[in-house]
Amino acid sequence: MIDSNPTFRGGLFHADLPDGRSGASIKLTRTELVAEALCEGQPQFAIPLNECQLDLGGASGKMVFCRNADRSLTIFSEDPSFVAAVAQSAYGTLEAQFRSLRARRRGEANRFRVGVVAATLAFALVCVGVYFGVLAAARTAVRALPIRIDEQIGEMAIQSLVPEPRLDADHPATLLAHEIVQQLQPHAAIPEMNFRVLVVASDEVNAFALPGGQMVVYTGLLKKAESPEQIAGVIAHEMSHATLRHGLQGVSQSLGIVAAVQFLVGDLGGLVSIGSQLAQKSILTSYSRTAETEADLEGARMLHEAGIDPVAMAEFFALLEAEVGDIPDVAAWISTHPQHAQRVEDIRRLLQGLPKKQYRSLDLDLKATQQALQ
Ligand SMILES: [Zn+2]
Repeated sequence: MIDSNPTFRGGLFHADLPDGRSGASIKLTRTELVAEALCEGQPQFAIPLNECQLDLGGASGKMVFCRNADRSLTIFSEDPSFVAAVAQSAYGTLEAQFRSLRARRRGEANRFRVGVVAATLAFALVCVGVYFGVLAAARTAVRALPIRIDEQIGEMAIQSLVPEPRLDADHPATLLAHEIVQQLQPHAAIPEMNFRVLVVASDEVNAFALPGGQMVVYTGLLKKAESPEQIAGVIAHEMSHATLRHGLQGVSQSLGIVAAVQFLVGDLGGLVSIGSQLAQKSILTSYSRTAETEADLEGARMLHEAGIDPVAMAEFFALLEAEVGDIPDVAAWISTHPQHAQRVEDIRRLLQGLPKKQYRSLDLDLKATQQALQ
């Protein structure tokens, strides 16, 4: 031992030690590495430097292990000055070992980082894929669900969403709206749907559909219309929201993955309670722009099939926009149905693709109905 050499804290592994291991006080001479075990008897162990096999490890990757030729003895330390001292010892022979060890370790660290980033990205992609996959599957599942789910949710929503007072079933305005529904029903995508219409006595220019075929038309809208065909246009649009099942799609999209999964597993009880909750927030009757366009085009198709000019629907949009477009509170229907110019354009384009047809006028006395509403 050369006591003038610096001492490093560390440890050692050897079969002669009580537990096979011990803390150690380590010294570096010109020719060997000497470790004095910090246990009873303080036995000493040594590894000639020209025999020393280095390795890096430990949690930090900065622990230096020196093993002898037959690997029966290992001396290790994490002391930074020990690392430097070992690297400079033995005329540079160990320094080369250190360099290759460090290079290998950097490569591993880089591969680990790349692996973590790749795995994170892959996981995110899978999550996004599953999310949209489930939503898409839920849209398909919505169409596969029995119509009675729509009807149950719609029934529960009527109380909270349909304002009072409502006109009697035999009021001329109710009869006119009902007659229009009757004429359009055979051309609906789901003709067996239980379409009904309630007329609300309110000057608000508004109309909406609930899931299951219940529709609500405000007297303000009936008074504003210039022809029964224009009212037919609005009703066809609302019937299309019901047959395209936009209310249930709204549930699945607003509540996201939870409702989507409930659709997929067919948890109908859960869905019905969700639907009744949403009814209070009107989520059932405010649709995406895509849904609005779908309802326009499906409504135009129905009108065309029924022999009613779909341009009347487009005209009514234009009329409402011109008259009340700047006061959305007056025209709730307009404010929830944006971009009218685009909608009119879309309807006209659809009609260009349909076979030419001689349209009829509806045999309904709108003037008399409007007088009954004064
Ligand atoms: Zn709409």
